[in-house]
Amino acid sequence: MKALTELVLASHNAGKLKELQAMLGDAVRVRSVAEFSTVEPEETGLSFVENAILKARHAARISGLPALADDSGLAVDALGGAPGIYSARYAGGLGDAANNAKLLEALRDVPDAERGAQFVCALALVRHADDPLPILCEGLWHGRILFEARGAGGFGYDPLFWVPECDCASAELPAAEKNRLSHRARAMVQLKQRLGLA
Ligand code: IMP
Repeated sequence: MKALTELVLASHNAGKLKELQAMLGDAVRVRSVAEFSTVEPEETGLSFVENAILKARHAARISGLPALADDSGLAVDALGGAPGIYSARYAGGLGDAANNAKLLEALRDVPDAERGAQFVCALALVRHADDPLPILCEGLWHGRILFEARGAGGFGYDPLFWVPECDCASAELPAAEKNRLSHRARAMVQLKQRLGLA
């Protein structure tokens, strides 16, 4: 593809924008979709990838720029991949503590060996709103769901996510370590390679 010098990120999260700008470096100017509209598209897809694509197309349509979107969440093996794309609103929009309580309850009788799970991050980059060939990257971070919360770092399901390679919960990892290992980091590394920036 033609060298990318500017893109719009389909997220209203200033932290994500900063993180992405730092990763892509000075060669690509990253702008927020919030500059163009406050309306967010309905996430009607059934998978992370579908939702990332529809958010990227929306951002490209309203900005006229190439657009990047991410969609992420937790997929638990014993729950058939739930909460999956519904991770943020698993307990009906009541927040992280309620989501974690619901997950612990759902897995109450599930033994350790069957508590496998992965954090998933899908990235979609479209050159324009109707791009028939989006660049798609997916990052997975494998772990297990604990029986009780541990650690005070991170956000979301981090206190319940056991990271075997570190022998601790994701919420116990220093931020820099999590940012090196996480599903988002893995997807971002791929994206940089695909864009010829790695
Ligand atoms: P987002 O839309 O990418 O911000 O994430 C969707 C939801 O997935 C979040 O609200 C969290 O519940 C969960 N999630 C995604 N990534 C992480 C993570 O790195 N740690 C913990 N929870 C996460």
